[in-house]
Amino acid sequence: MIIAVLSGKGGTGKTFLSVNLALAGIKSTYLDCDVEAPNGNLFLKAKDVKIYNSEVVQPEFDSEKCTGCRKCVDFCKFNALAFIKTPKLFPDICHSCGGCEMACEFDAITEVPRKKGEVQVGYHNDVLVVSGYLNEGEASGVSVIEDTLEHMEGNLNIIDCPPGSACNTMAAIGPADYCLLVAEPTAFGLHNFRMVVELAEIFDKKVGVVINKCDLDKIDNNMIKTYCDEKGLKILDTIAYDDELAKTNAHGIAALEAPEKSTKRCRTILDKSNSHGIESVAPSNDLTKRFSDMIKNIEVEVAK
Ligand code: SF4
Ligand code: SF4
Repeated sequence: MIIAVLSGKGGTGKTFLSVNLALAGIKSTYLDCDVEAPNGNLFLKAKDVKIYNSEVVQPEFDSEKCTGCRKCVDFCKFNALAFIKTPKLFPDICHSCGGCEMACEFDAITEVPRKKGEVQVGYHNDVLVVSGYLNEGEASGVSVIEDTLEHMEGNLNIIDCPPGSACNTMAAIGPADYCLLVAEPTAFGLHNFRMVVELAEIFDKKVGVVINKCDLDKIDNNMIKTYCDEKGLKILDTIAYDDELAKTNAHGIAALEAPEKSTKRCRTILDKSNSHGIESVAPSNDLTKRFSDMIKNIEVEVAK
């Protein structure tokens, strides 16, 4: 099963949820596709890491063979080529489609590799940890995300997606069986949440929601809950905002691996969520069980 965890904006709790779901699963694979800011490994600290280059191919021009016919420039609908005495490439907007090479009748174009980032693969206990890293200054992370997803393995793959609903996110949710949407109940959060709901609908994905930083005293006015009720979206769980949980997170400790004091605190927080009438399908106050149940419930949804 492949679960894509996504949110409309950064800082919503996507990595928190992805990392802990991967830890709750059995022999799961965690894939960090938030390639501009991959931070899942801050919690998982993978060992025995292997590094793979992530490359694309782009055109290189042979000025001896080039006749200046400009067919390559006319062909490129991405406007990645300009003609200034010879063809000039704007590498950031080249989509590596290979079309210009096909268009050239004079064999003046060769495709050469260009490194866009790397993929690091290691283990945290029995969790396979795969992290995509996009080089600074690159305009698109799609190719690095595709290379990251090549390492999917086993029965449970958790994809930590880039925030938002642009090309990078589309590339990350492509293979998913299920989209788990994380939302925070603010006006900005709702605006972006709507966009990822629409994205999941366009891709015809099954969807569930976790409301993070949820103020339980004001749950009746929770704008995400109201929106989910209107749209008929299933709320799988809610997580109350809490300083202790934030501190654990800030220290790079996954909630499921926090020392007992913090774990107890997390459990209390989650237990509180239950008592505020949110219809959750992961009702246990045992933290590990709660995340495991979430996976099981998603499995049932995917099998429908
Ligand atoms: S199509 Fe080939 S020959 Fe024509 S301008 Fe481009 S590189 Fe030169
Ligand atoms: S490979 Fe495709 S996108 Fe890149 S310059 Fe050639 S035609 Fe344009």
